Amino acid sequence: MSAPSAHDVCVIGGGVTGAGIARDLSLRGLSVLLLEKGDWGAGTTGSSSWMIHGGPRYLEFDWNTTRLSTQDAGYIVSIARNMVYRVAFIIPVLPHDKNNIERMETAMEVYDRFQPLKKAHPHVRLTAEEARQAEPGLSADVIGAVTMEEWGVDPHRLVFANVQDAMAHGARALNHTRVVDLLRDGGKVIGVRYRGSDGAMSEARARVVVNAAGPWVPEISGMAGAQVHLRPAKGIHIVYPHRISNFSISAESIDGRDLLLVSHAGFTLLGTTDDDFYGDLDSVDVLEDEVDYLLQAFERVFPSIRSYRPVRTTAGVRPTLFKWRRYEDELSRRYQVIDHAPDGAEGLVTIAGGKLSMYRLMAEETSDVVCRKLGHEAPCVTATSPLPGNESDLEPADAFGRRTGIPALAAIRLQSRHGSNAEVVIKAEYPGRMVCRCEPITEAELVHAARHEQVRSLADAFRRVGLAAGPCAGTGCVLRAAGIIGTELGWSASQRFDAAREFVRGAWLGRAPVLGHSGWAQEELAAGALRGLRN
Ligand SMILES: Cc1cc2nc3c(=O)[nH]c(=O)nc-3n(C[C@H](O)[C@H](O)[C@H](O)COP(=O)(O)OP(=O)(O)OC[C@H]3O[C@@H](n4cnc5c(N)ncnc54)[C@H](O)[C@@H]3O)c2cc1C
Repeated sequence: MSAPSAHDVCVIGGGVTGAGIARDLSLRGLSVLLLEKGDWGAGTTGSSSWMIHGGPRYLEFDWNTTRLSTQDAGYIVSIARNMVYRVAFIIPVLPHDKNNIERMETAMEVYDRFQPLKKAHPHVRLTAEEARQAEPGLSADVIGAVTMEEWGVDPHRLVFANVQDAMAHGARALNHTRVVDLLRDGGKVIGVRYRGSDGAMSEARARVVVNAAGPWVPEISGMAGAQVHLRPAKGIHIVYPHRISNFSISAESIDGRDLLLVSHAGFTLLGTTDDDFYGDLDSVDVLEDEVDYLLQAFERVFPSIRSYRPVRTTAGVRPTLFKWRRYEDELSRRYQVIDHAPDGAEGLVTIAGGKLSMYRLMAEETSDVVCRKLGHEAPCVTATSPLPGNESDLEPADAFGRRTGIPALAAIRLQSRHGSNAEVVIKAEYPGRMVCRCEPITEAELVHAARHEQVRSLADAFRRVGLAAGPCAGTGCVLRAAGIIGTELGWSASQRFDAAREFVRGAWLGRAPVLGHSGWAQEELAAGALRGLRN
């Protein structure tokens, strides 16, 4: 084992919370080590609904969370302009819904008071005819609707932008690096023991260790003998590789819960369930009856839903704070910063609970606690400091595309991921040849991701640049991508095939619950193609 490195702070967990904390502390001038056992944003953050929202639902039972997350969403959308986009909802009302149109509009009138905090527009009330005109897919039974505006974001890119900025300010950030134990001096926590991506064990000393491990928080605090109680709740989504509606739409499920169909830039998420979870956090499966629960709810408001072909599902576990008795979806999304000194674990700080939409605020409060412990005085600047690629205004995408020789859609996607740094990506490497016919990713971006964005596998490339996220689900592009990334990382021919096969196998679990007949046929074809090419 090599000699331990030394840092002011070690942050465990590279989801949005840990990445936000690493950025905040680095900008305050502390030396930071950030460790993530998988890839950046591959935990709960990547399985979210991709929304920076205020949560009108919480108004009924947790008013303050709506206020805080709306306020923080306002900061996030101004520091991450290239990554965010407006998501317009229609909330249809059907006879016998738990909320009639008057009640729904009253709720929206209250939510409107918060909307300016996140630069969103107030609601509009629609008649049934107006609603169906705007969204022809709506059921003929709809009796009225209200609109609502939220923000969408690619959570993987949001996490990575925070990691990038932390590194630009001196942090060391390692993905595929698992913390296996905490170093102790008596009761005091003085660092971490970790296994790196090459399998080697190392130690790092830190004056404070921050536990930002999302649903894994209790496992990390348990390493220091401290208990944190969560009530983890599983949520799944069905993913369609294109837009299936003009608007995002809400629906009431059979048990009265609110579900959402969210139209993102080039794909649609249908979700989400919210169920107490007692299983293995590293292996969260999607069940076919969960898929049916979602489809049943949406069929009522959007009757053609079953005719669209999903490409995969996602599953994640919310790190919700513990509370006895309440139904899962009525649990507060509050968060708690815990200094474990009174538990006999001086030097360990945990951040638990919360939401993606207020990760910046959670990071600020956690960093305040860390700075107080270290006697370090420096203000938080993350509410106003732009994330990388947001320092200047973007050139219009069509002009950027023409100038760099890539199609307009590829230019839009590139700018949404890299902001004003898109220029560097396309200029420095290959020309703008496309990797896939259905998802506009350039070879240049893949090369850049392998060289500069810690991509070590095709699954990492899926998160970093959206590889295989389109309708082909990888059938048309994983081998080519394995060739491009493999060249950068020095993979042999057989390692490239293995990488492609590993990706297909990994994607399989998420796809199986939504495969219809044509899906199974496509799956067989893809598996056969890989087998054939390998032999
Ligand atoms: C289905 C679903 C939909 C959601 N939708 C939204 C939404 O639209 N908007 C919103 O605001 N919120 C949403 N949420 C909530 C939000 O996603 C989470 O609150 C947030 O992403 C949690 O981020 P985190 O960084 O705390 O946890 P995570 O993203 O889980 O990050 C923790 C990280 O710690 C790492 N880790 C664990 N153990 C170790 C170890 N030993 N060593 C190193 N690393 C380790 C994990 O690999 C993981 O990447 C949703 C949640 C779910 C489940």
